[in-house]
Amino acid sequence: MLKAQDVKEYALSCGADIVGIGSMDRWEGAPKQCDPRYIAPDAKTMIVMGFRIPRGTLRGIEEGTFYVSYASMGYAGINHVLQPMVCWQVTAMLEDAGYESVPIPNNFPWTNSISGGQNPELTGQHNPDRSLPVSPDKPAPDVFIHMRIAAFIAGLGEIGWSKMFLSPRFGPRQRLAAIITDAPLEPDPIYDGPKLCDRCMACAQDCTGNAIPTDKSVKITVAGHELEWGDINYKDCSRYFCGASEEFNPFMVNEKDQEGFQQPVGAAQQYKIGPTYDYGRALEGASGCIRACMIHLEEQGKLDNTFNQPFRRRKPWRLKWPRG
Ligand code: SF4
Ligand code: SF4
Repeated sequence: MLKAQDVKEYALSCGADIVGIGSMDRWEGAPKQCDPRYIAPDAKTMIVMGFRIPRGTLRGIEEGTFYVSYASMGYAGINHVLQPMVCWQVTAMLEDAGYESVPIPNNFPWTNSISGGQNPELTGQHNPDRSLPVSPDKPAPDVFIHMRIAAFIAGLGEIGWSKMFLSPRFGPRQRLAAIITDAPLEPDPIYDGPKLCDRCMACAQDCTGNAIPTDKSVKITVAGHELEWGDINYKDCSRYFCGASEEFNPFMVNEKDQEGFQQPVGAAQQYKIGPTYDYGRALEGASGCIRACMIHLEEQGKLDNTFNQPFRRRKPWRLKWPRG
């Protein structure tokens, strides 16, 4: 009989950095369009894995000198290369033991959930122009799994004010993947360790798009726990994380570039510097929700993944506009 500990150790040996297990009944109350129990109604367990964003991938953006490492090795490469490799191996291990398993890296281009938050009243609902439910009792394909809630359900940590998932090992510095399986594995308890997010609002202060409010929040209940995070402006985040700010994008050298980088995200992502691994174009280096938060949590000694030197070693740079 397969044991939870065996699966977790195997996932770690394959390349995951943190692993937790949640039971599917913890999804009770999720919007139908976001409920993974519709993907595999006989599944009992969700295995959630976190993959570290190496701190050094952010170094070049912190210094203003090297950007592609974060966009590729710290972002899209984790979601498009590392996670699928590990998901395949762990899925094979489970299926070799006779348990059907659905591998799901952090990649939802076909989702039919209105999940971005640009229409808060519609969030979690079906977009009727995109696809149809195959029967009235089912959501339309593709169901969207909220990976941060999945990680909470699997006991890996908490969701911070920035809406980033925070783990005690890496803080906001991981990307998440899941496997849904009919293996009846012992679930981990919901995280009950020291509180990580202290509502310091460093994330909001350093967000170049002012996309993280300090006074507006979203509250939901998951597995009997009330969760709250800032009511992020996703439209602004989607533009600014790709470099819409004149002060924080050294690739924006003139007014033509300003127009190009400030287009809506789909168009901006193709402007001047192409994405890596299909979509990685995070030119802003998650200034608030990852870097500022990580610095704060490291300073407080809250993270297990420690370093010999602090992350911020020099005065942060900021460019003038117009240039020259
Ligand atoms: S920066 Fe502060 S308020 Fe924002 S998520 Fe991190 S700990 Fe919470
Ligand atoms: S990715 Fe950048 S723009 Fe988006 S919330 Fe984080 S700091 Fe703000």
